[in-house]
Amino acid sequence: MKTKSSENPIKLISFDLDDTLWDGQKTIHTAQQAMQNWLTRYHPLIAEQALNGRYLELRKEITNDHPELSYNLTFTRKEILRRLFTENIHTKDKALFHAESAFNAFFEARNQVFYFDDALKVIGELKTDFQIAALTNGNADINATGLKPYIDYFYSAELIGAAKPDTRMFKVLLKDAGLKPEECIHIGDHPEHDIISAQSMGMHTIWLNTQEKKWPGNSGPKWEVQTFPQLQQVIYKICLHCT
Ligand SMILES: [Mg+2]
Repeated sequence: MKTKSSENPIKLISFDLDDTLWDGQKTIHTAQQAMQNWLTRYHPLIAEQALNGRYLELRKEITNDHPELSYNLTFTRKEILRRLFTENIHTKDKALFHAESAFNAFFEARNQVFYFDDALKVIGELKTDFQIAALTNGNADINATGLKPYIDYFYSAELIGAAKPDTRMFKVLLKDAGLKPEECIHIGDHPEHDIISAQSMGMHTIWLNTQEKKWPGNSGPKWEVQTFPQLQQVIYKICLHCT
């Protein structure tokens, strides 16, 4: 197949990030641990409170106070830390400064992601034939994760103001790329957020099911793969079906 040629019926491949390109659970768990270690080292009393449930209590409080910002994971984590430090340190600026440092300990580790086998290799190869997009509900930084050179379009729930399965992220992508839905394939791990939502827009979809989970609904996805080499094959199969 020629590079991004006009006869190619598929022009763009979009990927979810967490649990699609990398092990999201392991990445977030490691980042939480990095933040807890930082707190234990510099603010042991606050670290103890966080471990003893105060962190989760504050998360609930913030969800109740700001339901309209529930999609914004950076805001939520920063606000939990701000409240945690403000309860313990009575100089407001000092509390804010330490809360920001604790967030940075999390965020640095959050971007040291655990890519799935062959993920970057396959995306690098796909880039010769397709435009590549990333659409995430998470707050990964594509510069810090090393993904930036592969990505033509990037959207997050924080940038768009809504998380998948809301279709706004897909709509903005199609508008910016100037493409019809049937010229795109979306790939993700989440049945509702990625597959059902993108399908409702008329895009092709592939369920990347690395953990070999059971599809939650009655009728399964049209395309399902477990690995990146399989994914690459199915993408070209879809291209052949469309010609
Ligand atoms: Mg995901």
